[in-house]
Amino acid sequence: MVNHKEFDSFNKKQIKVVNQAAEMAEELVSDYYKLSSSQWLRRRYDIKTLADLSPEEIVSGPFAQIIRYKAHPKDSFLGSSAYDFYKICLQDNSILAVIRDYKTIKLSPFTLYIITHELIHIVRFSEFIQNFNASNEEKLAEETRVHNNTHEILKSIKLPGLSNVLQFYDKWRVPVDEFDELSLQEA
Ligand SMILES: [Zn+2]
Repeated sequence: MVNHKEFDSFNKKQIKVVNQAAEMAEELVSDYYKLSSSQWLRRRYDIKTLADLSPEEIVSGPFAQIIRYKAHPKDSFLGSSAYDFYKICLQDNSILAVIRDYKTIKLSPFTLYIITHELIHIVRFSEFIQNFNASNEEKLAEETRVHNNTHEILKSIKLPGLSNVLQFYDKWRVPVDEFDELSLQEA
């Protein structure tokens, strides 16, 4: 079990930057998949930073993880209207470690990439293009596809420092042997 206090978390200024990146990512992904606002499952996912994560939602290493919950609308019964709810859990400390270690990587383009990437996963899960409970091999293949889609969406966006981030992720766009960025759990 991990404790919040052991980890660096975003300060207020950084949270603002991350929120702006999240808004931009939502817009880019919904444009790319041509989702109308009603299709764009606004209430089907949430993006959280360390301050709002429960101990089970914190992982050491990855920049983010997606957790799927079964949500039940109030007043429903028999589970007939249960739906999937995805929580993107940003791991502040791993993100901040990269910002510290790589002078060319800045928070705004970096979190834009991370959130865009996670939203693509969610669109693909919720449209059943990709199975949430896939085999490890299939998850690896999906990682490569999602990194390629992320690159496709972001490559023509003009944002200072974004090309450095795309370069940083280049190695993920070819199949890799090990990858545990996506820790998907059912709750
Ligand atoms: Zn991923």
